[in-house]
Parts: sequence; structure tokens; C-alpha cells
Amino acid sequence: MHLSDHFTLREMTKSAYALRHDIDNTPSKQIIQRLSVLASAILEPIRKHFGLPFSPTSAYRSLDLNRALGSGDSSQHIRGEAVDIVLPGISTYDLALWISKNLTCDQLILEFYQAGDVKSGWVHCSYVQTAQRRQLLTYNGVSYENGLTA
Ligand SMILES: [Zn+2]
Repeated sequence: MHLSDHFTLREMTKSAYALRHDIDNTPSKQIIQRLSVLASAILEPIRKHFGLPFSPTSAYRSLDLNRALGSGDSSQHIRGEAVDIVLPGISTYDLALWISKNLTCDQLILEFYQAGDVKSGWVHCSYVQTAQRRQLLTYNGVSYENGLTA
């Protein structure tokens, strides 16, 4: 089932961890609708600009899966509103920078990026159905800082 031109429900819900540990990661209809919005608003413009096929690292996570991964219950992944992205051959920092300048996100976080290691980390991006907070943050594993600080 396609959620947008290039992204399927399957890749927005896939989780090797869930498979390995037999955790149900089936979204509700409401969450599928949010994932469609996320794919159209965030993933499609990224694919179009960079011209690269890619699959999100992580999008929807059921509460059980999210807890098993050690993430907090307030995570927007549980609501189908957040996606983690890395692009082959593109610096994680450059990806975050491009998104921050060209797309409107609720929360955009450059996570675990280490300067000098272009492949390190990932970009977490959320999109909600109401007003976006337009937060831009960097998370190094310990604390959040405003802006892209790496
Ligand atoms: Zn995330």
C-alpha cells in the first residue's frame, strides 16, 4: 500500500527489532493517515530534491516497540508523526540543514552527528496536522541544543 508516490506503508512501519522480538507494529487507520501526511510533506520533497531512492530508518513505532527501544512515551514516532532519515552519500548535517531551510517541520533534530564523520547520526523530523512548532535542535546523546550546533 502506497502512502505517497514513493513511500509505502510497509517501509514506514518496518522494524527489524520488532520482527526479531515478535512485537506488533501495526498502526491504526488514524496513524496511517498521519504517516501519509508525513510522507507527502517531508519524505517526498527530500526524495525530489536529492533525487535518491531511500527508505526511512524508522517511522511508526507502536508503544511496545518504542518502549523496547528505550524511547520515551512522548515520542512522536508513536503517533505516526515522526521519521528518522539518513541518505546514502549525503552528510547527515547537510540533510538537516537542507530540511531546515526548505521544509516546515514540527521538530527537526540532528541526532548523534559527529563533526568530521559525514555518515554519523540521523535526522529526526516530525510533522503534525495542526501548527508546526518549527523547532530546530541538535542532540548529542546527552543534551539538546538549539539550532544545528555540530
Ligand atoms: Zn526519531
